[in-house]
Amino acid sequence: MDSEGLFSKLLCLEEPWKIKEIRFDHNEKRVDITIDFPRGSKFPCPVCHESAGVHDTTERTWRHLNIFQYPTYVHARELRILCSEHGKKTVDMPWASRGSGFSLHFEAMIVEMCREMPPLAVSRMIGISDDSVWRILRHYVEEARKEQDISDISVPGVDEFSVEKHHVYATLFYDIRNSRIIHIEEGKESEVFLRFLQKNPFIDPKGIEHVSMDMDPSFISGAEKYIPDSQIVFDHFHVIKMMNDALDKIRRKEARENVILKGTRYTLFMNPDKLSEKQKEKLKDIRKLDLQVTHAYHFKESLQRLWSLRNEMVVDYLAKWISWARRSRMPEIIRLAKSMWRHMEGILEAIRSGISSGIVEGLKKQDPYRIQAVLWLQCPRI
Ligand SMILES: [Zn+2]
Repeated sequence: MDSEGLFSKLLCLEEPWKIKEIRFDHNEKRVDITIDFPRGSKFPCPVCHESAGVHDTTERTWRHLNIFQYPTYVHARELRILCSEHGKKTVDMPWASRGSGFSLHFEAMIVEMCREMPPLAVSRMIGISDDSVWRILRHYVEEARKEQDISDISVPGVDEFSVEKHHVYATLFYDIRNSRIIHIEEGKESEVFLRFLQKNPFIDPKGIEHVSMDMDPSFISGAEKYIPDSQIVFDHFHVIKMMNDALDKIRRKEARENVILKGTRYTLFMNPDKLSEKQKEKLKDIRKLDLQVTHAYHFKESLQRLWSLRNEMVVDYLAKWISWARRSRMPEIIRLAKSMWRHMEGILEAIRSGISSGIVEGLKKQDPYRIQAVLWLQCPRI
């Protein structure tokens, strides 16, 4: 195979496209590939696919993948055909998406690189502007979002999401039933709900049955104001998360004087059956102590039982737990109990409807690059 044939294959060229010239300029350190078609060639109309003659052409250049260390450019005549039925129509070039100055291979490389590093780093490495990298990313994320049908989100979950490295807070909206991310919005105030709906006009707020969240007042007021027909629920995952937060505050206070509590955050957070042998031993030792954290752990264990009870026992059990917790003399637990008292209806509704948003942790872990990409696109400051 000659070099023209090889490059035709590499660029996936089909008749009538042909490589006309490959030029390597040693001084300029670049490779230029010119592609063309013979006079009298016909191209399919992009609408009806009927073969039609060329009407006019415009010279254009696309940046392609480097050949070894040399930046490579593709030159060709972009063309319009004259269809007998549809008139003048621009034909898509097989190696590039419409309107882009980069070849598809080049864009694919940029998208892949952005999975591993921020767009600015990619732009510096490749030697193109970071605006161009953003444009490519935006194009592919928009394409992906077009394919995603988010019109039927009946049970979204809402969670705070912090990008600690950048000290930026964001709100993650996800689809609990289909376990996927729908949207990420910068900030965590109640107006994130408004912006979420404005940017996703296909979502009908009236079609949203339940919204699952923690008991953050700004989330609650946001949902009440902007999705007033939905019911707010606080499911197992969120209630236990709040319990763990209270537990951790107590642990940190006591860890100053009790070395045994250092580094035990996850030992106290995780389900005991998921702990390693070493962590299990540690938990056993902590439980023997007469510390507030030991009592708080007790409260957590008894709260956990709520989700394994038969439905008719749930209301009584929860009311008893709350009243017991309010007398705990631990301000963190009392605060949690008061909050649960105020939002008891939402906790019970989550149990009744079987909603559980535990998937959100998995979503954050499974799909970090996508989250990163969406964050970059929707929250440019990050
Ligand atoms: Zn046509």
